[in-house]
Amino acid sequence: MPDNFRTDRSYALELDENDPLRAFRDKFVIHDPELIYMDGNSLGRLPKAVLERVNSIVEIEWGRNLIRSWNDGWWDAPVRIGEKIRGLIGADKGQVIVCDSVSVNFFKLTMSALSLRKERSKIVTDSLNFPSDLYILQGCADLLGNKHKIVRIRSLDGEITPDLDALYKEIDQDTALVTLSHVLFKSGYLYDMEAITKKAHEAGALIIWDLCHSVGAVPVELDVCEVDFALGCTYKYLNGGPGSQAFLYVNKIHSEISRSPIWGWWGQKDPFSFNIDFNPADGLQKFSTGTQPIISMLAIESALEPMIEAGVESLREKSVNLSEYFIKLSDMILAPLGYQLGSPRNPSLRGSHISLRHPEGYRINRVLIENLKVIPDFREPDNIRYGLAPIYTSYLDVWEAIERSRLAVEEKLYDQFPTTRLSVT
Ligand SMILES: *Cc1c(COP(=O)(O)O)cnc(C)c1O
Repeated sequence: MPDNFRTDRSYALELDENDPLRAFRDKFVIHDPELIYMDGNSLGRLPKAVLERVNSIVEIEWGRNLIRSWNDGWWDAPVRIGEKIRGLIGADKGQVIVCDSVSVNFFKLTMSALSLRKERSKIVTDSLNFPSDLYILQGCADLLGNKHKIVRIRSLDGEITPDLDALYKEIDQDTALVTLSHVLFKSGYLYDMEAITKKAHEAGALIIWDLCHSVGAVPVELDVCEVDFALGCTYKYLNGGPGSQAFLYVNKIHSEISRSPIWGWWGQKDPFSFNIDFNPADGLQKFSTGTQPIISMLAIESALEPMIEAGVESLREKSVNLSEYFIKLSDMILAPLGYQLGSPRNPSLRGSHISLRHPEGYRINRVLIENLKVIPDFREPDNIRYGLAPIYTSYLDVWEAIERSRLAVEEKLYDQFPTTRLSVT
């Protein structure tokens, strides 16, 4: 933070005025300017371009053109949109496709990677990973006869930072697969993709990176890091809309030898021959399964426009500035009220959300959402997550979020809520 840093509201407005990305906020639907949205890392805001596009998909492409639209931009959408995403993740042509959910794609990539390392029996991940990834690893091991041992590296500091020494020690000659989330969903810890990928390769293991919490906020260089497989979400920082499909990346060195475990007709070489024997399509197409929800798919395409225009480097720069501002205010204003930083302090070890921990975290999160017009989210046991999506979050949003989080505790406004959890937190 610069020397002239101040804690007042007008300082936030000055930062907004000097923000090179400030014009992008206007490309998003903002219904209620009083509402401070801090959950773009879970469900991104609605881009205005998507609103227009979805209307025209429904009215014209579906309503008027009917099935003819399959030949007019629907059938080739998974590959075409994959080509647009690849610029955000440092991938050369032909290595990214959009299809299915993160969980389904994680299954496909895990089975594919394990089949390339059949003689090895260890899978290395961490206990801080998103549970769906951990469950799918368990399911894959079960399908394969429970011959694999899944090692989950723990944290040494209360779920903020993984134990990197333990990670490096576990990656050995028996390791088939290393798989991690590039940015951890609770603490926001950011792994060193290049170093860990190198370590996995030195041991002869393959790696899958889950980019759900980094794509669109943190620069990613899959080709430079020689990553084997990767995948990520489009409804978080990429603003594709609830349940929009995921993307997956397969390094071209594996494109011929890898196989998807789901042999669907969209992965068939010549699907409209309706041949009754499966013959996998070339390249990445074989990782497709079946008919995709096209409205969501095409919404992603429009949602990507502002992201591509802003550029990954500028997004990262703003994300770091927003987070540093957030932490500075939080140290001064919230720490004395019992809030503790649940994310790494060093910006080079952090993605684009910040967790604050408080013994009353669950009830604070509720009063923020229900009475104080701030939307963060809550992750057990005591983390309030503030997502700082750089494309539309303003410095004033940060200031307001801190100010209202102060009120919630200083005036004990959370007291009216029970500690029993709602089903979605
Ligand atoms: C959000 C997220 C997912 C979500 O998976 P879905 O199949 O889209 O529900 C998976 N992994 C990580 C790391 C996530 O952050």
